Amino acid sequence: MTVEEQYMDALYPEDPVLERVKANIRELGMPEISVAPNYGRLLTLLVNLSGARQVLEIGALGGYSGICLARGLAEGGSLVSLELEEGYAAVAKRHLTEAGFGDRVSYRIGEALDSLAQLEREGAKFDFFFIDADKENYPNYLEWAIRLANPGAVIAADNTLLRGRTVNPDKNGPSVLAVRRFNEQIAQDERLQSAMLPAYDGLALAMVK
Ligand code: SAH
Ligand code: MG
Repeated sequence: MTVEEQYMDALYPEDPVLERVKANIRELGMPEISVAPNYGRLLTLLVNLSGARQVLEIGALGGYSGICLARGLAEGGSLVSLELEEGYAAVAKRHLTEAGFGDRVSYRIGEALDSLAQLEREGAKFDFFFIDADKENYPNYLEWAIRLANPGAVIAADNTLLRGRTVNPDKNGPSVLAVRRFNEQIAQDERLQSAMLPAYDGLALAMVK
């Protein structure tokens, strides 16, 4: 985290629930790639502002961002979270339950692309999307989000800078190429209104018109 990010996080009181989640993730040897505290607060704020009732997360890990999203849910709202690893989804479910959202979250285990196709077959629609899974599929996830969006839905996507690789012309691996394509798509797609922030590891925000 940058010194500026640390400064801003220090303005807020500690959040024992989310700290416990981060500590558990570390103890369990899971990747320490959950969103940063202030970033999580932004997610809560955005879900709240949008009035979203149906939220879809792609990439649950240990449930850190899931708790942040769930905290912003409108009355009666719920979160669907897609996760490849069964063990991670179990940890996330436990953390959401401990945070008081156990009855408002459901996990779909497996390839997110399969779960997205299944959600479409079920006729599911969402008001808010948080894209934060495998980077190679970011362009696909964007298309799926637009397809499953209610009018006015919000799309947020993490890691659009790939720790600088996105803007390094010497880096041209599959993730980098996919994220560059995703960034161009979200910036130019006529169906979206969007903006990008270089904060943290890069954050893209869009609204489906
Ligand atoms: N959003 C989380 C962090 C997610 S890390 C947070 O901030 O708290 C990315 C997650 O995406 C990992 O848990 C990984 O297992 C999952 N993932 C990777 N590839 C995936 C795929 N193809 N389908 C579904 N989930 C995937
Ligand atoms: Mg991320």
